[in-house]
Amino acid sequence: MVLNNKCKKCNRICHVLHFQQSFKNWTSGNDDIDKFIQDIQLSAHNNLEEALEWIPYNKLYDIKHTSKDEFGEVYRANWVDGNIDYYGSWDNESQNWERNNPNMFVNLKILITPNNLTLEFANKIKIEYKFYGITQDPETKNYMMVLNNKCKKCNNCICYAIRFQQNFENWTSGNDNIDKFIQDTQLSAHDNAEMALEWIPYDRLYNIKYISKDEFGKIYRANWIDGYIKYWDNENQNWERNIFYIFVNLRSLISPNSLTLEFANKIKIEYEFYGMTQDPETKNYMMVLNNK
Ligand SMILES: [Zn+2]
Ligand SMILES: [Zn+2]
Ligand SMILES: [Zn+2]
Repeated sequence: MVLNNKCKKCNRICHVLHFQQSFKNWTSGNDDIDKFIQDIQLSAHNNLEEALEWIPYNKLYDIKHTSKDEFGEVYRANWVDGNIDYYGSWDNESQNWERNNPNMFVNLKILITPNNLTLEFANKIKIEYKFYGITQDPETKNYMMVLNNKCKKCNNCICYAIRFQQNFENWTSGNDNIDKFIQDTQLSAHDNAEMALEWIPYDRLYNIKYISKDEFGKIYRANWIDGYIKYWDNENQNWERNIFYIFVNLRSLISPNSLTLEFANKIKIEYEFYGMTQDPETKNYMMVLNNK
């Protein structure tokens, strides 16, 4: 369908008309939620990112429980379509939105009061989160908000710090101090992946050979299968890395319990500091690094 009518507010065929035209193609099964989503779509004249969508549950996959917060249980998922971002556009042929973030990471949080939904409520959520839409778990019948953390320091974007944060659930060093240390470096890596350290499982290292000893202890040489992070690859929803099988040095960590950002920055003056690993036999934690 080609639209002939213009938006009275914008005096052109704006996004709002495309949303309006699609109202008949979806329902949440709850009139209040339908009205809530529609109202917000009808207000998105200038910025597509302001709109919310009804997101069918079967468009979400790899759904896992992660934590609990003031709203209740929190889940993580990937969203097949991804959101309609600022650069999205209406495709007349498919009668759908062109999207740029397929398979994007999202969080799901239970909607406590599905019958008290207002623009004010949406705006309140949007202060803290990227708010994409609402879905419903077909088993529990719970309505859930589909959203993402955003970085206030980076103009409310999903910066590298947020990308790292989305992955906190998926690794641990086995030592709370070291986890916190690595997480802190990752949360400081807003636009520069080199600021971040990683937990590097020992089995991602091979050809490990003793080479020498200095005031820090023994130094080993190894190859690191994955290589270090260059930048976030939106298409693959993963980090783009550099130099697979890169040579690295492993050095004992003298004081695994006094780890700070300052310590990391001090090491980084002398070395390319990639992350931490643990020898499963000796249980020694080691820094994975390279001479500059
Ligand atoms: Zn308009
Ligand atoms: Zn258009
Ligand atoms: Zn940031």
